[in-house]
Amino acid sequence: MKKKIAIIGSGISGLTLANFLYLNKKHNFTVYEKNESLPLDEGYGIQLSTNSIKILNQINFSKINKEKIYHPKGVDIYNIRNKKICNLDLIQFNMNNSKYTTLQRSTLIEFLKDDIYSQHIKFGKRVKEVSELKGKILIKFDDNTNDLVDYVIGADGIFSNTRTFFEKKINRPVFKNAIAIRSILKSTSGLNIDKSNISLLMGKNCHLVIYPINKDEELNFVCIVRHKKYNPDNIKNLLEKVVKQNSNLEKAFKEDLKSWPLYATPKMLPSTNSKVFYIGDAFNGFLPTFAQGAGQSIESAFELFNLIKDEKAEIQKIYYKNRSKRARMVSRRSNFNFFVFHFSSNFMQIIRNYFIKFFVKRKSFINSYFRMVYKN
Ligand SMILES: Cc1cc2nc3c(=O)[nH]c(=O)nc-3n(C[C@H](O)[C@H](O)[C@H](O)COP(=O)(O)OP(=O)(O)OC[C@H]3O[C@@H](n4cnc5c(N)ncnc54)[C@H](O)[C@@H]3O)c2cc1C
Repeated sequence: MKKKIAIIGSGISGLTLANFLYLNKKHNFTVYEKNESLPLDEGYGIQLSTNSIKILNQINFSKINKEKIYHPKGVDIYNIRNKKICNLDLIQFNMNNSKYTTLQRSTLIEFLKDDIYSQHIKFGKRVKEVSELKGKILIKFDDNTNDLVDYVIGADGIFSNTRTFFEKKINRPVFKNAIAIRSILKSTSGLNIDKSNISLLMGKNCHLVIYPINKDEELNFVCIVRHKKYNPDNIKNLLEKVVKQNSNLEKAFKEDLKSWPLYATPKMLPSTNSKVFYIGDAFNGFLPTFAQGAGQSIESAFELFNLIKDEKAEIQKIYYKNRSKRARMVSRRSNFNFFVFHFSSNFMQIIRNYFIKFFVKRKSFINSYFRMVYKN
């Protein structure tokens, strides 16, 4: 029987699910977004590994303008003084149509909105109250409209309000004592890097990632600095600690910078309501150190879509079991990377660099650490 589905949030996870439901045509759905529009002018980059590209191809990602995406061939790993340690080959994970891809987040959102924008997204909708009514869920919005649905999908990010409403306790992600500072560079800004690859520079209590986001040679630049307090007015002082380690970075930090505190979900928890599901960061928010947040958002949307489409019994149980297993694996790797990227002692850095150089060439390590996530 045709179900009615409410997706709360129009980020990468909510829009991916909406696209699959749209193409499948089996159920009715609406995306409810609290903001008045989609962030289409946002220039920052994301990396999508082959696991997510393979899924996006099923909703015609291959039709995207090729000038607006990039396929880096590898990750060049450096110390903070820009001395190369080794390279991780990314081509080994590519398949015919599923290549490791970098792009602007707004390019992905623009693609995901295309088919569903006019009919299926309602803006300015913030959930005020939820209740059960005749075996369905009644959602009341703060503009005094409501909707009676069979399923509610919380796709409203790491601070998910949907979780707070349905689980009846405040959803509290933890601040990871780290801050992300991002910018778009028009050139390598004096750094000795290959701008067609992803560059990772590891320093004392910080690391930097630089990669191309389109064929215009624009580079996404993100610096993660460990710091116990987030104060947007203190970013300059934080960056001084990084520039002290490599004065060539000063030029990159002169660009227009934006900063975010980094949060992660402390514990994965299932939904206590069989008609409510969480996808993307609302299911689990990852540290960005395995570049899998968007990828896992896409995967979780796809997994849930398949269960809803096939009208499986015990959707909740199967979804949580599979999703939490996969999210735990990615989370462990993201946390491990976060730990090793930031060693402050010179001795530990030398040992780490030696091990990275050694393991990056080992097939067994590549298979268990990366291929398991990239799924090919
Ligand atoms: C510094 C940094 C770098 C990153 N780099 C990468 C990367 O390279 N690769 C990668 O894969 N991932 C990366 N990520 C992670 C990735 O961006 C996120 O994991 C992903 O965007 C999560 O998508 P989402 O749809 O679950 O949530 P979000 O993108 O947070 O979207 C949630 C949506 O819900 C809406 N919303 C919120 N509350 C409500 C409400 N009450 N009612 C209605 N709507 C609501 C919001 O307005 C928003 O539109 C990075 C993250 C950070 C912080």
